[in-house]
Amino acid sequence: MAEQNPSLKIAILEKAKEGLQKVKISGGGRCNVTHAEFIPQELVTNYPRGEKELLGPFHQFMTGDTIEWFEKRGVELKIEDDGRMFPITDSSKTIVDCFLNEAKKHHVEVFYSKNVSKIIPTDNLGFELEAKDEKFSCKKLLIATGSSVKFWKLLENLGHTIVNPVPSLFTFNIKDNRIKDIPGVVAQQVSVKVLGTDLFSEGPLLITHVGMSAPAILKLSAFGAVELAKRNYLFDIEINFINDTYENCLNKIKLFKHDLAKKLVLKSAQFYLPKRLWKQLVLAADIETEARWADLNKSQLEGLAAQLTQAVFHVSGKSTFKDEFVTAGGVDLKEVNFKTFESKLFPNLYFAGEVLNIDAVTGGFNFQNAWTGAYISAKAIAK
Ligand SMILES: Cc1cc2nc3c(=O)[nH]c(=O)nc-3n(C[C@H](O)[C@H](O)[C@H](O)COP(=O)(O)OP(=O)(O)OC[C@H]3O[C@@H](n4cnc5c(N)ncnc54)[C@H](O)[C@@H]3O)c2cc1C
Repeated sequence: MAEQNPSLKIAILEKAKEGLQKVKISGGGRCNVTHAEFIPQELVTNYPRGEKELLGPFHQFMTGDTIEWFEKRGVELKIEDDGRMFPITDSSKTIVDCFLNEAKKHHVEVFYSKNVSKIIPTDNLGFELEAKDEKFSCKKLLIATGSSVKFWKLLENLGHTIVNPVPSLFTFNIKDNRIKDIPGVVAQQVSVKVLGTDLFSEGPLLITHVGMSAPAILKLSAFGAVELAKRNYLFDIEINFINDTYENCLNKIKLFKHDLAKKLVLKSAQFYLPKRLWKQLVLAADIETEARWADLNKSQLEGLAAQLTQAVFHVSGKSTFKDEFVTAGGVDLKEVNFKTFESKLFPNLYFAGEVLNIDAVTGGFNFQNAWTGAYISAKAIAK
């Protein structure tokens, strides 16, 4: 904004003693800045809330622009195998420093420890803000307060509709003998269904000390944020560990009975499954430790096929995913003009980031929403 229109007087009011704290802790301290997805139509599919609304904005400013923006300021980003992008320094400090230097360079005043507790629209279509006993006034106001419940209340009092906030991006708590002793095990390509819903996802799955995590689970937590909150995080999931049908699996297992007849079932992991997971699924199918493939009866063969392709687990709660979490909910998207990120209710009031009812799956997409909203609103204000 300051770069595009140096005549503007710009101030940032920040509640904390330091700014950019979430950037600092993001991505496990490395800051997953964005994601290497360069097609707007593909990029938007990562947003359970905001998919439709972000398509236009992504045509104005998206991943490639983010990379370029940082590059021009001396910050190089790298792509990891799964598409996540980080600064080459692997340190979020690089990103924090970049923003702070930019603010300084363009004479943007940052006021810390200013907890804004009142917004008063003024007669000349501007705003007056109160933070403790101090008052600030402005012609244009950009709100980027993230998932602050208090601030949502202020906006609601002002007249905006706030979609009820619920957590997104969490891991599932599961107490089950099959996974009790195997934390750290990863199944590379599983599919997971939430029973009684349309929720479905695919991807890697990680067994943790308290349940399950990794993209297959995190995607469900994002796309099912509202639905799973309604169920108070008590529901059943069905996992297909081998991404093949029950029938195909059973046919393959019948061949193993013949081809691997003399081998111990427990010791001959199949379908590229980790040995420790295979062992647990075999035991859950009522197959004894010493059983050989030739010993298996029909019900054991069917039981094993069911464990591999239709294993049901009960989820009894959620835990925080340490690398990234967000809140679904926020300012109703119907009340925002996505050409400029300006409020449709109050001219000169803009929103960017998580304050809006927009959130994404893990992987750098949440920051991309923040960068896109910030860039476009800043451009509109600078005009
Ligand atoms: C642990 C963790 C790791 C994450 N890692 C990643 C990641 O690697 N990649 C990714 O894409 N996303 C990540 N996210 C999500 C990402 O951090 C958020 O989506 C993003 O920070 C949202 O930006 P924002 O500007 O909307 O809000 P925030 O970053 O939350 O910033 C809001 C700011 O507003 C200030 N504020 C709030 N209320 C007031 C008030 N009343 N007065 C004045 N100031 C106020 C706050 O102090 C804060 O500085 C992570 C989230 C967490 C919690």
